[in-house]
Amino acid sequence: MLKERIDEFYRKEDGGGKRDYFYASEVTDCKRKIYFKMKGAEKEELDPQTSRKFERGNQIHQKLISALYSTGVVTASEVEMPNQSLFHGRADAVVSLNGENYVVEVKSASPYAFKKLDGPKKSWVSQLQIYLNHFDIEKGIILVECKGTQKLEEFCIERDEKVFEELEREFGELLEMVREDVVPKKPDKSNWKFDKCRYCLYEKACRQAKNSLKGFTG
Ligand code: SF4
Repeated sequence: MLKERIDEFYRKEDGGGKRDYFYASEVTDCKRKIYFKMKGAEKEELDPQTSRKFERGNQIHQKLISALYSTGVVTASEVEMPNQSLFHGRADAVVSLNGENYVVEVKSASPYAFKKLDGPKKSWVSQLQIYLNHFDIEKGIILVECKGTQKLEEFCIERDEKVFEELEREFGELLEMVREDVVPKKPDKSNWKFDKCRYCLYEKACRQAKNSLKGFTG
């Protein structure tokens, strides 16, 4: 019937494959997982329901950027970082408010996550810091919409060069490991808010590589 056909439509690749740079959106992911991704390791398929959830997030993003355009504050949207950078990605928008520029990052959250939001997520802030430092802009805004109620929340973030320098150091090291075929050790999960391994598409590659520095070339 229709459900199976729609699920089949959503069974598509989600950006795996060999590369030698990092996405700004993945800098708080498990580094071992990023390693497997960059090596093009075998992974499970993303299930169609999760693909549809991502698509819903993209629709919210487009709707809010379009609304911002209508207010006349947007000076640029989908601003790409230079290709030679360690980090790749696209800032959602740059807006001008009272003569000051802000990088805007649009996010969406489930009703449960939105209700529990007592500040921006670390992953959102890290991503924004990368854009602020690349584009040499002092302030940013993280705009969040609740997927259930369409309520909005916003967080103003100041540029922090130390956060960016630390990310450059950490990911410079990871890039060396990728080049040298050194698998990162299993992470210390004590700071994780939930067990990311439960949703990891590279669980099999992770299990097979064990917790060693054994070479893994994909
Ligand atoms: S299974 Fe867990 S530790 Fe292994 S790569 Fe995935 S997230 Fe990282």
